[in-house]
Amino acid sequence: MKKILILFFIIPVIGWAQNSPSTDQLDKTRYENKEYYEVKNYTKKRIKKKKPKNIIFLVGDGMGTAQVYAGLVANRGNLYLSTMPFSGFSKTNSADDLITDSAAGATAFSIGEKTTNGAIGVDKNGVPKKTILEMAEANGLSTGLVASCGITHATPASFIAHQSSRSMYEEIAADFLKTDIDIFIGGARNHFNKRKDGRDLLVELEMKGYDVVTTMDSLSFVQGEKIAALVAEEQPQPTALGRGDMLQMASNFAIGHLQKNKTGFFLMIEGSQIDWGGHDNNVPYLVTEMLDFDKTIGEVLKFAANDGQTLVVVTADHETGGFSINGGDISKGVVEGKFTTGGHTGIMVPVYSFGPQAELFSGIIENTDIFYKFKEVLGL
Ligand code: MG
Ligand code: ZN
Repeated sequence: MKKILILFFIIPVIGWAQNSPSTDQLDKTRYENKEYYEVKNYTKKRIKKKKPKNIIFLVGDGMGTAQVYAGLVANRGNLYLSTMPFSGFSKTNSADDLITDSAAGATAFSIGEKTTNGAIGVDKNGVPKKTILEMAEANGLSTGLVASCGITHATPASFIAHQSSRSMYEEIAADFLKTDIDIFIGGARNHFNKRKDGRDLLVELEMKGYDVVTTMDSLSFVQGEKIAALVAEEQPQPTALGRGDMLQMASNFAIGHLQKNKTGFFLMIEGSQIDWGGHDNNVPYLVTEMLDFDKTIGEVLKFAANDGQTLVVVTADHETGGFSINGGDISKGVVEGKFTTGGHTGIMVPVYSFGPQAELFSGIIENTDIFYKFKEVLGL
């Protein structure tokens, strides 16, 4: 009994050390943002193209409307998301549960079918289905995945791998070798080179023609046609605890790399840890990840507005935490929040869009519709 009691007290402390964005804010229910940023309105620029050449799809894992509004309050009333001209809602239920997990949630986007919770790139009967990324690749587009978590984690994995369970990380890593994805940036290097089967997928990637890098700093020096950046052995840190602007840098780098293809590109970018802030019922963690994701959206909109032929769609796979805002001060960037669960919820999540045919993503849609609309606008 004594042992159990001691563990009970130690675990929350360890959890805090790993998850809380800054040690000077020990209150998990409140966040005061001292570093707000200016939001530029890139989206005023008129889009003349009828069809997009490129798609940049951004997934805020666990990002419900309360998460978005918490970010907006923390940033003194403005977000890049607020500059996106079209918005709607997505229904997130999976094939076997009103409450989806991130694997079924992302697979709905990637294959256009509701599947069972935990499934990666396979339908509800376990049958592998071609993903939107694989279809884009087969049609001559360049492809990329960027995440602020392990690249083998459920959301990015669902666009490239086909496995019955999200926990089959090493099998998911091996699936990257079966594609010709042009760039991927994230963590989980251990699933590539510290494996039970003894394979070193980093060496195999190099043999396949990839430039493989293990730090963000070395990324800026690579110029090869194919790039694999596995910048953390396991999960990258929360942004406030050391990851910094990795997601923005990685997204900009991936766009710069992919835009060389005259045919176009498909890029998925995930703000992965909004979800983890929700699971931890931790307002500072949630808000700092939300703001990091929004700044990444700003970088994407800057490119897309200038390019004029890039469709940008931002949504979430589900909401996390049953989060609500029960206090705060928009003039000081203060958010006070409460949670109803440590898991996911079944509410609709917002969809935001900008660029050619962005209007297709408004209204109340199914998460699976996003796949079909992507297919339609790219003519796949
Ligand atoms: Mg995720
Ligand atoms: Zn989650």
